[in-house]
Amino acid sequence: MTETRVGLGFDLHRLVEGRPCILGGITLPHDKGPQGHSDGDAVLHALTDALLGAAGLDDLGTLFPDTDERWKGADSATLLGAAMERLREARWTVNNADIVIATEGPKIAPHRAAMRARMAELMGTDVERVNVKGKSLEGLGALAGGTGVAVQAIVSLERL
Ligand code: MG
Repeated sequence: MTETRVGLGFDLHRLVEGRPCILGGITLPHDKGPQGHSDGDAVLHALTDALLGAAGLDDLGTLFPDTDERWKGADSATLLGAAMERLREARWTVNNADIVIATEGPKIAPHRAAMRARMAELMGTDVERVNVKGKSLEGLGALAGGTGVAVQAIVSLERL
């Protein structure tokens, strides 16, 4: 019997000047970047929470608190890698991940392919199993004008 699970993740970061714009594990050419303790990569944070949620584990902030020396200032790719290690220990493999990035900051479309490749690499899965799309906010709400980035991620896991 194959067991299948789904998990949902969400994250939100302000975009501020003087920060590199690291999203989905890559650096985008943009004059603002996500504010945060580490690199502020809201895409990897949402994805990691979705993976942990599907596996029935605690969330990102609980498992890898930045008050712990091991995780203080750790980059988000390292945290995703640590989450993947937990999943592998429990024999989970990634069926697929799908991600929506809502922002009026950096353009997402030109960087979709690179983000997909990087996240597939970090999860040890095929690129066709990882999808990303950018959504404009139509000038509405608190994130209008590129003040922030909101991310939803959904994943499906499987184990035999
Ligand atoms: Mg975050």
